[in-house]
Amino acid sequence: SAKEFGRATYRFFTEEMNRHAFERLQMQNRLRHALDESEFLLHYQPQVDLKSGRLLGVEALLRWQSKELGMVAPGRFVPVAEESGLIMPIGTWVLREACRQARAWRDELGLAIPVGVNLSALQFRRGSLVATVAEVLDETGLEPGLLELELTETMLLHDTEAVRAAMDRIRALGVQMSIDDFGTGYSSLSYLKRLPVTRLKIDQSFVRDMIADDDDGSIVRAIIQMAHSLKLTVIAEGVETAEQGAWLAREGCDQAQGYHYGRPMPAEAVAARFARRGETARAAAG
Ligand code: C2E
Ligand code: MG
Ligand code: MG
Ligand code: MG
Repeated sequence: SAKEFGRATYRFFTEEMNRHAFERLQMQNRLRHALDESEFLLHYQPQVDLKSGRLLGVEALLRWQSKELGMVAPGRFVPVAEESGLIMPIGTWVLREACRQARAWRDELGLAIPVGVNLSALQFRRGSLVATVAEVLDETGLEPGLLELELTETMLLHDTEAVRAAMDRIRALGVQMSIDDFGTGYSSLSYLKRLPVTRLKIDQSFVRDMIADDDDGSIVRAIIQMAHSLKLTVIAEGVETAEQGAWLAREGCDQAQGYHYGRPMPAEAVAARFARRGETARAAAG
């Protein structure tokens, strides 16, 4: 009967929901120990200048090597870490580790490699971000100009005055700021103009189909023009083919990041790539 069917459906949904809630809870419990157990690490993905192909910097991407769950992708655990507030200590760890690494590249190899760090909305909303950034820079001795913080449009939508004030203070430290996944939110030109950001990162969902799909192609072109009219640098994310790189270069996009130029990789691999860049430059100069 309909009644029995309804009951069965209801039970199915509650079981589904329970299982889902249980999995999240389980992940949360494991995340709670992950910092102490040193289960986090950072990989770094290269960014290149589209005209010259020259390596410019890297984005730090968080990896969780869980003893129980194996390698967990950030898309799965970052939302759980945000929900539970654990993103606060984890985010600070990411910031410190990225700055420590950039300083080590500087000291050990003489390489100035700018590094981008992703922020979560919670880190931005809870008042202590500026102090944390200042403290980490002080502690690691990294030049502030080598650090870039990546924000998303949705983080900037609420509480605009407080957000602006925080951004101004971060810029005053000499730290760079970019807007990640650009195009997926609702930023207007006039709003962007008032923000002290230095770079826009075009979301990879537009880049993926920009050659085949006219709408996506138009969006990418519009973002490039908008960035340039605001005197911002623009970088395309998720560039997987040489053809996409050439298309972007033709359209005047400044920079690119994606599997075509390099996957996220351990710090040692980054050092090797940049060391080779140095040799190439010296060979060209000599
Ligand atoms: P995101 O910041 O937009 O990072 C770019 C993502 O695209 C990374 O995924 C990267 O591995 C992937 N990617 C790069 N090139 C390509 C490509 O050519 N093709 C494709 N299909 N993908 C590419 P990942 O590392 O899985 O990170 C996913 C998201 O998790 C990040 O997106 C970011 O929003 C978040 N995330 C990563 N690390 C952190 C962190 O330390 N803190 C916070 N709050 N979020 C982080
Ligand atoms: Mg990012
Ligand atoms: Mg992105
Ligand atoms: Mg993202």
